[in-house]
Amino acid sequence: MADRQDVIVIGAGAAGLAAAAALGRSGHTVLLLDARDRIGGRIWTRLEPGLTAPMELGAEFIHGDSPETPEMLAQVGAAAVDASGEHWSLIHGRLQRRADSLLGQVRAAFESADVLSKPDASLESFLTGGAARGLSEEAKALARSFASGFDAADPRLVSLHSIAEEWRSGGMLDSSQSRPSRGYHTALQALSAALDRTRVHVRLGTLVTALHWSRGSVEAEARWLGRPCRMRARSAIVTVPVGVLQAPADAPGAIRFMPALDSKQPALERLICGSVLKVMLRFRRPFWEERDGGRYADAAFFHASGSLFPTLWTALPVRAPLLTAWVGGPAAARLCESSEEKIVREAMDCIGTVFPGADVHAEMQSAHLHNWSRDPLACGAYSYVAVGGGHARETLAAPLDGTLFFAGEATDTTGEAATVTGALRSGARAAMEASRHLARGP
Ligand SMILES: Cc1cc2nc3c(=O)[nH]c(=O)nc-3n(C[C@H](O)[C@H](O)[C@H](O)COP(=O)(O)OP(=O)(O)OC[C@H]3O[C@@H](n4cnc5c(N)ncnc54)[C@H](O)[C@@H]3O)c2cc1C
Repeated sequence: MADRQDVIVIGAGAAGLAAAAALGRSGHTVLLLDARDRIGGRIWTRLEPGLTAPMELGAEFIHGDSPETPEMLAQVGAAAVDASGEHWSLIHGRLQRRADSLLGQVRAAFESADVLSKPDASLESFLTGGAARGLSEEAKALARSFASGFDAADPRLVSLHSIAEEWRSGGMLDSSQSRPSRGYHTALQALSAALDRTRVHVRLGTLVTALHWSRGSVEAEARWLGRPCRMRARSAIVTVPVGVLQAPADAPGAIRFMPALDSKQPALERLICGSVLKVMLRFRRPFWEERDGGRYADAAFFHASGSLFPTLWTALPVRAPLLTAWVGGPAAARLCESSEEKIVREAMDCIGTVFPGADVHAEMQSAHLHNWSRDPLACGAYSYVAVGGGHARETLAAPLDGTLFFAGEATDTTGEAATVTGALRSGARAAMEASRHLARGP
């Protein structure tokens, strides 16, 4: 391995892997570093013996119709399977099929108030203001729970503009939702196979603590297996999560940039890494399929608004004794402070509420979760835009001095931020920018 690479890529999640693969293809030498002992970052699949469905501790769904992930899966002979199915909601203590779309009402209120042409505000201030007077309390509750559950956002902080754009008709919420049939780790296999190992060197267990940079030159200070080390390159692509960039200098995953990233401060102040808790519960059998005469045999989602975990889902179309309990936003942020034991207990209580009379504790076999908000290499689940942060993602993504480039889900500007697709796109974009600068020379 040469003493000085063309590019150091920090972070071997979807963005870093996509960037390294593209750079290798363009003939550049790359050192891909990650502090973890595995690739994938916020993609982390757990395969359990005897369980037909994968357990996804991080990303699980392919949102929208973007081709990136299905194309990657096809390269390793895997497929994306449709994950949409029946939705059942707990209403007055009884599970009922959801019929009308309250989301349509919220969209109509955004449109009639013409929110995008007005100064930005928080979603909450819109919902409590005069422009939402015509909205039913039920529709307002749905808007709050959607912002929390889907966007991992606090309705009091999230930008109304960002929400109105994301929820617009024909956008992400109207498109299909699928899953990699054999788990997201198959996507990692495809990404890993795409690396040209003659040019791209992957070094795991390497915690980058500082990055010294000047035009045409970077030096990373890191700890590898607990020992200090230094690595040099002509440029760097930084793909660490936005929460890591925001962390105080003495936080365990933080990177000291020298000189500091002053031009990124306005963006870092307007992007928030939201919280999510996802608890996967394996049961002895899919007991819900037999309840009430088999009415829920084809249920994909159960909604229990007002409950601490308002959304549960099954592994359909795969039939498996697995339920995932999900909460996002401020409630998740609070619960993230609790012990794993308490988190699992809360999730079990919610399942007990949705299926009254079922002896869920006797049925349970194991529970799994990862607390991303307390993980110093993630500092949260995924990013959202705070009020007034309309340009924050562009600002964060902008290269510095033809030497530092930025990728990661939070830097996506194609409407796919906070997702694996957004991370992949941002990695490809940053690789193209870096490649262009390297071709020009110092
Ligand atoms: C619970 C959960 C559920 C989700 N569900 C979905 C979903 O269903 N669909 C979807 O599309 N998206 C989902 N997401 C979001 C998706 O996982 C992310 O958008 C995507 O994986 C981010 O990729 P990335 O490369 O930008 O960041 P990451 O995957 O976080 O990669 C960044 C890497 O940087 C490394 N790193 C950090 N600090 C340092 C350091 N100092 N030195 C060296 N390395 C460092 C980290 O270890 C990490 O591997 C979910 C996320 C979570 C947490």
